[in-house]
This record gives sequence, structure tokens and C-alpha cells, in this order.
Amino acid sequence: MSPTQRKLPFNLLKKHKSLRELVRESKLKIVNMEIKTFHFNPIMVNTYILSDETGEAVIVDPGNCQMYEDEQIREYVAAKKLKIKYLINTHPHIDHIAGNPWCVAEYHPQVLMHEAGMPIYKKARAYAVAFGLEVENMPEPDHYLKEGDVVTFGNQHLKVFYTPGHCDGSICLYSTDNKLIITGDLIFELSVGRSDLPTGNEALLQQSIREKILTLDDEVTILSGHGDPTTVGRERKENPYLVR
Ligand SMILES: [Zn+2]
Repeated sequence: MSPTQRKLPFNLLKKHKSLRELVRESKLKIVNMEIKTFHFNPIMVNTYILSDETGEAVIVDPGNCQMYEDEQIREYVAAKKLKIKYLINTHPHIDHIAGNPWCVAEYHPQVLMHEAGMPIYKKARAYAVAFGLEVENMPEPDHYLKEGDVVTFGNQHLKVFYTPGHCDGSICLYSTDNKLIITGDLIFELSVGRSDLPTGNEALLQQSIREKILTLDDEVTILSGHGDPTTVGRERKENPYLVR
């Protein structure tokens, strides 16, 4: 990215390139946070590595479960000389946690998630078999995140929203400075998360979206657990699954 582009605020950059184009490059540079997106495992989860100029980084929802996927993370982290400070799971579904054992063995980050997801997290290996995946024992979380917590790495701050509905223990991570929110499987581009899996609850899902997503500004970027990025404004206007 050229120095002139770097100075542009993200909403100006958007006029230049669509979000879809940025994602095709698989890399979004938003103000001072760099976001790398990987698409891992047969369920095509979005695994995000967030970092900034300090070199500190956070990995969100590592879904890697094949050696070639591990290698993609290893290459990126080495090339950028990143220190993975935290591993955060937005929720305990197997596609979002499959890479936890590898990431912890490789980088020793602190593992953070919401406590309400623990019953599902503890059954990870059983769920993995149902999806034809084989995973090692899941590492124990180092800390539980709750509503209102702020996770800090480098010069970045991620505010934790508790957003149940897809399953217990679902959280969103909101960067006020960068006007972006990582939503896990709560909301997607023109869709919403499933609520028919264990501990799913449609009314709660709609409530979480209404109270935690639609209260944000239109220009806030949404980075979902699957699919392309979108914005709060677009979903407010066009998402056919929102109960209005
Ligand atoms: Zn998912």
C-alpha cells in the first residue's frame, strides 16, 4: 500500500475499492490496524489476524485444521514478525476453534472466550467428528471475557459485546477507533446466524443484533465469521432476515 493510500481514512478508501475487492486481496488495511483474513476448513470460516505497527497481534477464530492451513498462518506471522498476544474465539463452534490447539502450541497466546460457551467448547472433539474433522484436545481458556471488557494489544482496543442467539458464549469484538466489528456468526452480509443448533435462540439472536449491531453507526464495517465484509448501514437497509 502506498504512503498516500495509507493516510486515507477507510471510508474514503472504500470509494476507491469496494469491500469485496479488498477482501479478494484478502487483506484490509483500516486506519492503523491491519487485518488479514484466512478462509479455513471445509466450513470456510473467516480466521482473522489483527495487528498494528507495534507487532502485537490477536488471532480470532483460528479454524485451521490442515497442515497447509497452519503453514499459511506461520508464513504470515513470520513475514510480519508478529507476536500473537491473544487467541479469541467469538463462539465455541468447531469451525471457529479447530485451530486452537495448534495456535497455542505454536505461539502460546492467552486464550480468551466467554464462559457461557464452555459446555460446547468442552465437547469440541465430539462435534468435530460430526463434521468429519479430527482435532486435538482443546486448550483451557486463560481468561473469560464478558460484556464491557476491553482487550488491548499494541495500540488497539477491542470492546467485548455479549451477543447470544447463535449459541451460548457468542461475543462480538468492536474497535471504536477503526469503526469495525467482528461478529462471529451473529450477522453476515445479507444474512444472520443460524439459531437451530444447540443453545441457539432466534429471539435472542434478533435482540443481540438490534441492541449491539444496529445501535452502531452506518459506516461501521462488519467482519463476519463467514463470507464477505459488509457495513452496519447496508445491513440496516437491506438484510432480509432482520425483524424490524
Ligand atoms: Zn461458523
